[in-house]
Amino acid sequence: MGTKSDIELIDKNGKRLDGRGPEDIREVKIETGVLHRADGSCYLEWGGNKVYAAVYGPREALPRHTQNPLRAIVNARYNMAAFSVDDRKRPGPDRRSREISKVISEALERVVLTEYYPRSAIEVNIEIVEAEAGSRCAGLAAAGVALADAGIPMIDIPVACAAGKAGGEVILDLGKEEDNFGEADLPIGYLPRTGEIILLQMDGHLTYAEFERALDLAIGGCLKVSELQKKALMEKYPSPVGGEQ
Ligand code: ADP
Repeated sequence: MGTKSDIELIDKNGKRLDGRGPEDIREVKIETGVLHRADGSCYLEWGGNKVYAAVYGPREALPRHTQNPLRAIVNARYNMAAFSVDDRKRPGPDRRSREISKVISEALERVVLTEYYPRSAIEVNIEIVEAEAGSRCAGLAAAGVALADAGIPMIDIPVACAAGKAGGEVILDLGKEEDNFGEADLPIGYLPRTGEIILLQMDGHLTYAEFERALDLAIGGCLKVSELQKKALMEKYPSPVGGEQ
């Protein structure tokens, strides 16, 4: 979390820099099946984040020594484009992108029914073309839609959202300045159907009570984004007439 700054992150009326209240999420737009070469795909905008997710597989895991005879492996690769941030980012993997790829892969392995596809690999490519805080949550939410678009069986569509603390207040879905200069950031991955938390990271400091409040807010944010995921999938795959009760 950031260094001290003179920026007033929350004004005396409780409004944040972009005019949001403490419990408001940035605007989220989701489109399914936007990339025609991949087995499943998603384009997602979340505030200033713009993210593509593309899924390939399940297909034979290669090289063969990576195969698990009992289940599929899920390889998520999170990448931030060089032009995704104000100062050009050095292209290629770095410690941060390896860490995010690892936690997203582990989160997805909990939700995909991997035992259906022994010796296989499911590749999930997450490309951040514009980043503005919260890109790992946007990436995980986009991956969930792309996996569903690819027809991969899952116990639920995974979703994600962050909460945290900035300007002394617990708030939902940190923006760029809040992430840079705030006190804490708590991104979570969540399964709305089971209530399971599949990813939880924390940067900064929260009291126990603040943590509980932030977790509640983040789960509320996940439920909102989950509705938008389902809407985007329904737009591409409308129920047959009379199919929906
Ligand atoms: P998240 O995007 O999941 O919140 P971080 O908290 O690590 O992940 O990053 C917050 C934001 O900082 C990113 O969304 C991005 O806008 C910016 N950022 C991250 N890495 C870099 C980088 N190498 N160069 C410039 N900006 C970066």
